Amino acid sequence: MTHRILILGGTTEARQLAGKLAAGYSVMLSLAGRTESPVTQGVPVRSGGFGGADGLAAYLKETSIELLIDATHPYAARISANAAQAARMAGVPIVALRRPGWEPVEGDRWMQVYTTGDAVQALGPAPRRVFLALGRQEVAAFEAAPQHHYLIRSVDPVEPKLAVPDATYLLARGPFREAEEHTLLQRHGIDIVVSKNSGGAATYGKIAAARALGLDVVMVRRPALPEIPSAATVDQLADMVDHLVEPAAERGV
Ligand code: NAP
Repeated sequence: MTHRILILGGTTEARQLAGKLAAGYSVMLSLAGRTESPVTQGVPVRSGGFGGADGLAAYLKETSIELLIDATHPYAARISANAAQAARMAGVPIVALRRPGWEPVEGDRWMQVYTTGDAVQALGPAPRRVFLALGRQEVAAFEAAPQHHYLIRSVDPVEPKLAVPDATYLLARGPFREAEEHTLLQRHGIDIVVSKNSGGAATYGKIAAARALGLDVVMVRRPALPEIPSAATVDQLADMVDHLVEPAAERGV
């Protein structure tokens, strides 16, 4: 029997990692089931929550998982906390794929805040033209500031729509290149961008474009995550896995 690895995903890297590891290991990719049509993974996928840390610990035992990989998004703090706790409870080793955050560089006009609520406040009282590059779950907080114009981009439709008089909705899935983001920001006359510090190249285009255009960026800081062994890239994590568990071929199975 090959090793059973459970990857908690929902990110591009998780998908890439699953594809890479599937060559040598038995891999299951787990998704929260929020996105209506997730990109095809090419590896077995299960979908939906486990029912907290207890539920995940039970799943790890029932399916004889030998390694848990937390490759969720850096802002998915609950599942990461549950994963660390469940791994402890089930006695299963855990490693994380932690994409480094972006750092401000010369020319950036970032205001760093801790929560989406703080981001709403950071827009100030005067009406502004705001690009919300946030998940559909976070944008509801901006109803508290209906004086602004909002351009809202999400993978799935924002339902219900925001109770604000002036909002435009865009459906799109990254990656987004700087040149396209530059055009988008200009076309909509945006003067401030609200973003998570997702890290990676796929969504950095809007940050680079905001810098080039001299626009303000409200950057929502990352939540605290459990301290577990981690790697910054798919390749580094795949190397870690090779040291933690032997591929099937080398075990003669
Ligand atoms: P979250 O608040 O940390 O998790 C909420 C609950 O969703 C978890 O307690 C768990 O339910 C379930 N869940 C989350 N990820 C799961 C997974 N990979 N497999 C099975 N169940 C999962 O997460 P979130 O911020 O809502 O994000 C949901 C998913 O979208 C994550 O997989 C994440 O990687 C992805 N994502 C999130 C963001 C973001 O900005 N937050 C951005 C891009 C992608 P139970 O407690 O019932 O197990």
